[in-house]
Amino acid sequence: MSACLALSACATSGTSTVDARGDAAAPSSVKLYAIDCGHVESSDSGSMADDGSMDGVAGKGIIPCYLIRHPKGELLWDTGLSDAIADMPGGLRPQGSPMHFEMPKKLATQLGELGLAPADIDYLSFSHMHFDHAGNANLFASAKWLVDADEYAQAFSETARQRGEVPHYSALEHVKPVLLEGDGAYDVFGDGTVTIHQAPGHTPGHTVLLVKTAKSGAVLLTGDLWPLRESRERQLVPTYNSNRAQTIDSMRRVEALAKESNAHVIRQHVLEDFAALPAFPTPLE
Ligand SMILES: [Zn+2]
Repeated sequence: MSACLALSACATSGTSTVDARGDAAAPSSVKLYAIDCGHVESSDSGSMADDGSMDGVAGKGIIPCYLIRHPKGELLWDTGLSDAIADMPGGLRPQGSPMHFEMPKKLATQLGELGLAPADIDYLSFSHMHFDHAGNANLFASAKWLVDADEYAQAFSETARQRGEVPHYSALEHVKPVLLEGDGAYDVFGDGTVTIHQAPGHTPGHTVLLVKTAKSGAVLLTGDLWPLRESRERQLVPTYNSNRAQTIDSMRRVEALAKESNAHVIRQHVLEDFAALPAFPTPLE
């Protein structure tokens, strides 16, 4: 589907009050857009496994953003690398890191292809606040931020400040978030189609997102619970991880969630998982 077709379909459903088929505004009409928000290439994936099994292993990954369009609003789930990297000739090679980041196209530009400005995003949420998931957070300070209470506390902690993480999302420091407390799922639109589930361990308030589409079934976006294909197959825990036992327990609970919801599991940075979703701007629906 072209951007033009997507735009005209959007304008039609937004302006007509009665649809001939009567199903234009069905609450089940959820659209999931997988957006390329950066690429990473590493000469050493050692930090992805604390058992040493990925030491010296080279790899390439995708850094995705997800837009969920629901009749009741737009939710952006993870905001990828910072759009600033798109302006850096040759991308970003952080000093002392085996990683090289590139951003072929800005997130703001891609949202523009759907006729959306950052201010049009109603809800903002992240699997967690690491820089490759919250890179463009500062563009979306006008959205309602849905964040786990433990993740929120960690995001503005002294530790996060010392690590230099806060600038990636500093515009959110003075917004009033919707804090997600307890162990239950959070139902974003109140109809069970889009739910945020607790999966702590990688960070104190790491979460995963379950999206139920009308025609294509359920999709589970798993953040850095399973960043690589090996992460799920072998239950690998990264070296940069907040609580190992919690991470392993979250893997068990998210496997159960995937089974009970019959969901297609997306491992966050795995190229073939991203490629299995429709190519932007075509949504999964
Ligand atoms: Zn992470």
